Amino acid sequence: MILEAFKELGLSDRTLDALAAKGFETPSPIQRLTIPVMLQNRNDIIAQAQTGTGKTAAFGLPIVELLEPRAKQVQALILAPTRELAIQVNDEIQSFRKGDLRVTPIYGGAAMNEQLRRLRAGVDIVVGTPGRILDHLRRGTLDLSSLRWLVLDEADEMLNMGFIDDVDEILSYAPDERRIFLFSATMPDRIAGLSRKYMRDIEVLRVENKQVTADLTDQIYFEVRESDKFDALTRIIDVENDFYGIVFCRTKVAVDQLVNNLLERGYAAEGLHGDVSQSQREKILRKFKKRHSNILVATDVAARGIDVSNLTHVINYSLPQDPESYVHRIGRTGRAGNEGTAITFISPAENRQFMFLQRQVKAEIRKETLPTGHDIVEMKKLKIKDELAEIVENETYADYDEIARELLAELDPEVALAALMRLAFKNELDESNYPEIRRIDVNRRGTSRLFIGLGKSSGYRPKLIVELLARECGIPQQKIDDVKCMDDFSFATIPFQDAEAAMKKLNSLRELAQDDRPLAKLAKESEKQSDRNPNGVRDSGRNYRRGPRDSYQRRGGSQDYSKRRDHTRRKY
Ligand code: AMP
Repeated sequence: MILEAFKELGLSDRTLDALAAKGFETPSPIQRLTIPVMLQNRNDIIAQAQTGTGKTAAFGLPIVELLEPRAKQVQALILAPTRELAIQVNDEIQSFRKGDLRVTPIYGGAAMNEQLRRLRAGVDIVVGTPGRILDHLRRGTLDLSSLRWLVLDEADEMLNMGFIDDVDEILSYAPDERRIFLFSATMPDRIAGLSRKYMRDIEVLRVENKQVTADLTDQIYFEVRESDKFDALTRIIDVENDFYGIVFCRTKVAVDQLVNNLLERGYAAEGLHGDVSQSQREKILRKFKKRHSNILVATDVAARGIDVSNLTHVINYSLPQDPESYVHRIGRTGRAGNEGTAITFISPAENRQFMFLQRQVKAEIRKETLPTGHDIVEMKKLKIKDELAEIVENETYADYDEIARELLAELDPEVALAALMRLAFKNELDESNYPEIRRIDVNRRGTSRLFIGLGKSSGYRPKLIVELLARECGIPQQKIDDVKCMDDFSFATIPFQDAEAAMKKLNSLRELAQDDRPLAKLAKESEKQSDRNPNGVRDSGRNYRRGPRDSYQRRGGSQDYSKRRDHTRRKY
């Protein structure tokens, strides 16, 4: 049965229906671990999970199963470090149970009135940022006396952002019997401190990441907005010689949607997911293997066991749930000595998970920029010339001699040819078919802004702060940016990946500490400077394109790709 694996974890039919509607097929590794334990509801839990691994469902599904809707009391409180995450978690949890579940996001910066109205009306689950939650608790507008579950989502981020005291105080409003579920991507010592203080009967759950390597295939990634992914995909297909690839999506809903969009635009695409019957599946695979279709859109589950060789591309339209699946996915190209390319689309929301993945697979994944409309049209022109030369050389065209003569008798050769091209290729060479895809830098977190409790009053100047960070934390001076010294504290921007270790190191320097408070922490949003370059990421400047004689993909769903000529493949 579809969703069998979710059922085995102990979820009810009602929840399974909701998951089916969302298009989930199988639990992610962290969901497999946490859901059964949480459903027993006997332990506090510490789970190590990155964003993007399905962690929201990992804690959200058991809570939705266990709570009694319409009790008119807050039974679960989920604390998240940012408002974006709070909104995301709120929406995801709401989707697990339509109808009678009341979930509400409570975050700073939003109007109080609406929040008060909702809280007064009664909610089952509150998802919020610590500061605003605390506001409501102090005013007496949020009542946690019936709280059964407290989730600390992205606990390490909350600690980094200096929310520890807030979390501390929030916990004092909750009854003793509450369970605490702590989710964190990393497990710094302070998490252990927090758990010792508040948690009982702790079960620690983490997905063991096997050492995975993925070095056979050429791997690149593009940064694109979620809403631009479709256009990005069509560009890649269009600029390719003979695109023959699998495009991976996370859910069957996403697969169906993408296939429909591709078909609408005239591409020969087929979709595979858990709802596709066995006979249909075989038919689709036969077609794909014969290259009657050249784009197979699939979920991870559905792609298992597909044995197709000579794929030119594997495209991660959405990131997989774990590094192993990534390696699995991309291992489908580059088989048996064949050259293939794995392309991953990264939206801003996926960036953090991608950084984790990159570390985990220990392979170089190059950043490139998408081909522009101009690039694609140039490729298409080259391809036309190429095919024309081929016909002139190897095919007969005597049937057209007469009409050619007649046309040239009436028209200037250039005009005749141009008009004929127009007839044959319609709008194929129109660059405006490729609307602007806005370049983005998903790596908003490419840098971190540190708050450092040393300022002018203790003799610090920007230069000294830079030296301190370089000397103590090993951060190259040129990577330290935008240092500002105030009287009692300073700010500095450093690479995101160095932030955690740098704070740890600085906070261990007892001799520098001015008082008991940590010397370094992440600057709060309001303290960040908006005028600085927020990314610090260097673009390779390289455009994704193959060699100059590469071709275009003629639009037309019925095209038989097996008949296409086999051009030499080139490296990027
Ligand atoms: P999260 O890690 O909770 O931010 O989830 C990342 C994305 O994965 C969300 O869009 C979820 O809806 C989706 N997701 C979570 N669990 C699954 C699953 N078992 N199958 C497919 N998609 C999932």
